[in-house]
Amino acid sequence: MDEQQQETVCVEFAVGIGDGKFTATAVVPAGPTNLTQILPVLQSLDDSLIGGVTAQLAESGLTVSCKAGCGACCRQMVPLSIFEAEALSTWIRTLPEARQEELAGRFHQALLKLAAAGLIDRMVNEDWLAETESARQLALDYFYQRVPCPFLEDESCSIHPIRPLICREYLVTSPPQHCADPATLQVAPVHLPLNFSRILNAIGAEVERDSRGWIPLVFLFAWMKSGARPGEAVAGAGPQVLYEFVKRIGQARSPMPAADPSPST
Ligand code: SF4
Repeated sequence: MDEQQQETVCVEFAVGIGDGKFTATAVVPAGPTNLTQILPVLQSLDDSLIGGVTAQLAESGLTVSCKAGCGACCRQMVPLSIFEAEALSTWIRTLPEARQEELAGRFHQALLKLAAAGLIDRMVNEDWLAETESARQLALDYFYQRVPCPFLEDESCSIHPIRPLICREYLVTSPPQHCADPATLQVAPVHLPLNFSRILNAIGAEVERDSRGWIPLVFLFAWMKSGARPGEAVAGAGPQVLYEFVKRIGQARSPMPAADPSPST
């Protein structure tokens, strides 16, 4: 059946996060789906959570500095959950061939530059998200190569509506110029009570053995060739699939540090 013709059902839920509660409503397919296919629902929930946090910040006089045209943070390493990798791969395959080739070329150039800097092996073997000195150093070494994300165009995200959760979750309230050199430790990231990106990574690590549940975004075109379909491991009726995600919200470490690959934290 055409996905757009699927019946949907509205699901309401409330989950405790630390001392607070995350309450939301989501519209999901009533019938069969999987975790990759309901990513738009998770993106929308994440946007609403982030919107609430930024509104609270505004009440306390703090403004998020991030906006179109500032792509400073898009030169950081981006951990991409395998479910988002699957969704982006599917989307890329729908693009005109010339556009696919253009993107493939950019990913290739990015990898060449990282390889020339001797970073590929470290990216494969080190856990960037670990709170260790070597992970922090790797993040800095990567950032200083100034390799733009292959999806960055005119300093704006060319896939903004479908950008990864971790990109949505990385916001700062410090002046944009500080993002050009995170080593100065003047970047003030917005701390979220919950990071959807990390939950997706954790589910990915469960369904794909010997995996962290995510890949470096710059490896996306290489990953595409595997034809992997991790979403199929978390399949069922829409409410069930959403539950598989939501039940982990309560288990998530909270409050979490900034959900970013930023070397500044
Ligand atoms: S996907 Fe978009 S927001 Fe994320 S790093 Fe790339 S260009 Fe930036």
